[in-house]
Amino acid sequence: MTTADRLTSEIEARRDDLVALCQSLVRIPTVNPPGLNYREICDLLDQRLSGSGFQTELIRATGAPGDSDSQPRWNIVARREGRHPGPCVHFNSHIDVVEPGHGWTTDPFGAELRDGRVYGRGTCDMKGGLAASIIAAEAFIAACPDFAGAVEISGTADEESGGYGGVAYLAEQGRFSPGRVDHVIIPEPLNKDRICLGHRGVWWAEIETKGEIAHGSMPFLGDCAVRHMGAVIAEMETSLFPALAEKRTDMPVVPEGARQSTLNINSIHGGAAEPEEGYTGLPAPCVPDRCRMVIDRRFLIEEDIAEVQAEIRAVMERVRKGRSGLDYEITELFRVLPSMTDADAPVVTAVDRAIAQVFGRPATHVVSPGTYDQKHIDRIGKLKNCIAYGPGILDLAHKPDEYVGVEDMVQSARVMALALADLLGAD
Ligand SMILES: [Zn+2]
Repeated sequence: MTTADRLTSEIEARRDDLVALCQSLVRIPTVNPPGLNYREICDLLDQRLSGSGFQTELIRATGAPGDSDSQPRWNIVARREGRHPGPCVHFNSHIDVVEPGHGWTTDPFGAELRDGRVYGRGTCDMKGGLAASIIAAEAFIAACPDFAGAVEISGTADEESGGYGGVAYLAEQGRFSPGRVDHVIIPEPLNKDRICLGHRGVWWAEIETKGEIAHGSMPFLGDCAVRHMGAVIAEMETSLFPALAEKRTDMPVVPEGARQSTLNINSIHGGAAEPEEGYTGLPAPCVPDRCRMVIDRRFLIEEDIAEVQAEIRAVMERVRKGRSGLDYEITELFRVLPSMTDADAPVVTAVDRAIAQVFGRPATHVVSPGTYDQKHIDRIGKLKNCIAYGPGILDLAHKPDEYVGVEDMVQSARVMALALADLLGAD
């Protein structure tokens, strides 16, 4: 029997186990925010992985954003050493899920198995991927007990809210440093035959226009910050949005519409605050003296963040020229630089070969429109040899009636196990 055949039969033997593991992970509602039940899911993973011969550590991201005694940010890192020295392959999955939202026809935390699919919040994003990586590792260890190097599996908090209580914290502690870890696979739901090399960059900023408060019956005595903001939006429509649509990238971003620079106006608030719930009176007549807009600019590997910032300042300066009295401020809220692993990095070529073997066709390389924990592994961990690969259909993430296909989990577990055999030198 070849190694590939042994791996396939070890995974087939674990098919029911894979479904049950996915279901038990989904039934722990690790909703974030606020970040519920992290300890419970880490305990479940601890039990499972200790039972499979992994050395486990539970690590709380003490002091990270969001961490508190009532909502502690727990993470688990499990490591299984091979019989000989060699590289380390690390599977990193986030354990948090977003809120279910409305529109479900099944219990979002029931993990119902129906027509070959497991339904529930987090099935696709990404507890199905976590379960598949555990089964892949266990099958690999059973089929190739003489392997060289080490297999690591982590379950980390807070990916949905930036990853600061999860991968960023672990990376700060050197847990994703080259030397300790050589190859990282993040089983996010990018479809079972695609490899995600990285993501576009993010720049979030708040733009504030300033005016002067006055009585609403004599607006000419004040200066309306909301009208200034209206002029900003008009200028964006005329000059900025068309310019962004022209900036195309060579990054293979999916969906196709995201293969360019984009900007979302996330929110606008101007003038008096919304009345409190239950207030039955009228508002006071005032000219708004402040208006704030939050923008979410996604940028390309071909762009520099300094250019992205200068472009917004240029919009504001053009508006200022036409409007006397306009004063404004731009405050950066968040930034992530674009990240893209080389297509010939060893983890990419190993997973390429495994996908070709399982599906009989070459893998597709893609880039994610939004960011995920690879950003911390790249920037803090300084580890470039990192991809996202996992079961689940990307478009189902965060939607009602989210599901993961059982066959998809099984096939992607085969891909992961073959990649392990390739990278850890099993014959
Ligand atoms: Zn995810």
